[in-house]
Amino acid sequence: MRKKLIAGNWKMNGGLAANQALVQSLLAGLAALRCDVAICAPAPYLAQLQGLLDHSSIFLGAQDVSAHDSGAYTGEVSVTMLREFGVRYAIVGHSERRQYHGESDVVVAAKAQRALAGGVKPIVCVGETLAEREAGKTEEVVKRQLAAVIHTNGHCISEIVVAYEPVWAIGTGKTASPEQAQQVHAVLRAQLKAASAHPERTLILYGGSMNAANAAQLLAQPDIDGGLIGGASLKAADFLTIIAAAG
Ligand code: PEP
Repeated sequence: MRKKLIAGNWKMNGGLAANQALVQSLLAGLAALRCDVAICAPAPYLAQLQGLLDHSSIFLGAQDVSAHDSGAYTGEVSVTMLREFGVRYAIVGHSERRQYHGESDVVVAAKAQRALAGGVKPIVCVGETLAEREAGKTEEVVKRQLAAVIHTNGHCISEIVVAYEPVWAIGTGKTASPEQAQQVHAVLRAQLKAASAHPERTLILYGGSMNAANAAQLLAQPDIDGGLIGGASLKAADFLTIIAAAG
């Protein structure tokens, strides 16, 4: 039985005072946890979050990691730097980075590889656009995206976390139905099985307008091992409800 993971993606939101208030509300509202919980914060706030989450049961995550170790890569943050702030997870290949920053499957795979080598678990995002879904290409797209990561990370592929995030569902309020999500998760699970000695270890999260109202149904699906939560992770009560639904 895989322990579920609920990871909040704050995206480019927050501020010193707002972060403190949000984390305090979360910590005050957390009951005994039966799932893992993480907050993926903007890089400048990792030090603050490291302090706020110290001795808590919430793990710290980043929203990206460089594919390089160090050097002349202005603006990038290395996995070694992330580790210095106690970061356990790093999102890689979020659709917003693929779309606005031109990240290819190859770059995403290299980022996942660098994260794993540096001791940070990559949360690898895959997902189709609306046009791709309507053209019947969902399976082809997510398999291609995951195949690139499997190809580069072969032997340690069971250590990654996968997040299925249909692009049309991110930040739109349109959620994949539990059946639609489960169908894609089963495809990804089969792909991992064919590639890994320990496929049962790999968590496959769902992300895309998961909220307090729909989380329980999505999380009840056999191949949905947790959630990557954007908007709803910025509201303590909603995020706590989702965490409770995972238990
Ligand atoms: C995300 O940013 O990964 C995400 C799933 O966002 P939202 O929950 O707001 O759709």
